[in-house]
Amino acid sequence: MTRTCSTDECFSSSVAEARYPSILVAADRLGSEGAASDFFECGDGWFDIIDVLCQRLEFWIVQNEAPPLVIERVKAKFGRLVIQYAGGNDMTAGMVDMAQEVSARVCEVCGNPGRTEASTGRWLITRCADHRGISFSY
Ligand SMILES: [Zn+2]
Repeated sequence: MTRTCSTDECFSSSVAEARYPSILVAADRLGSEGAASDFFECGDGWFDIIDVLCQRLEFWIVQNEAPPLVIERVKAKFGRLVIQYAGGNDMTAGMVDMAQEVSARVCEVCGNPGRTEASTGRWLITRCADHRGISFSY
C-alpha cells in the first residue's frame, strides 16, 4: 500500500502476511526493496474482502487437503479487485472470482456499498456517494 492507514485494520502487507503466511508469501519471495509495498495496490476499503478471502482459502485448503494457493499480487483494475495467484483448484478459483466480483460493489476507500463509475481520468473506480471522484496514486 502506498497510502497512510488511518485505522487499526489497515491494508499493510505486513499485517496481512502475518495473518496468512501460507497464502501471502510473494512479497517475501520477491525480496527486493519496495516489493512489499507494491504487493497491495488498492484502497483500504477492500481490506475485509481480502481478509475474508484469505481466511476462507486457508481454511478450505487445510480442511480439504486441497492444492496450495499463493496470492502473488492484489491490485485495483477497472474498479474492481484483481487478484493474481498460482495454484489451488476449481473451488479456490471460485472463491477468488467471487471476491473480485464483490469488490465492484464496495467502495475502495471506506468499504461501504459503492458503484463502479468513470473517474476524472476516465479510469473506472468503485466508490460510495461520499468518496465519489477520489483517486489513489498507486
Ligand atoms: Zn466510501
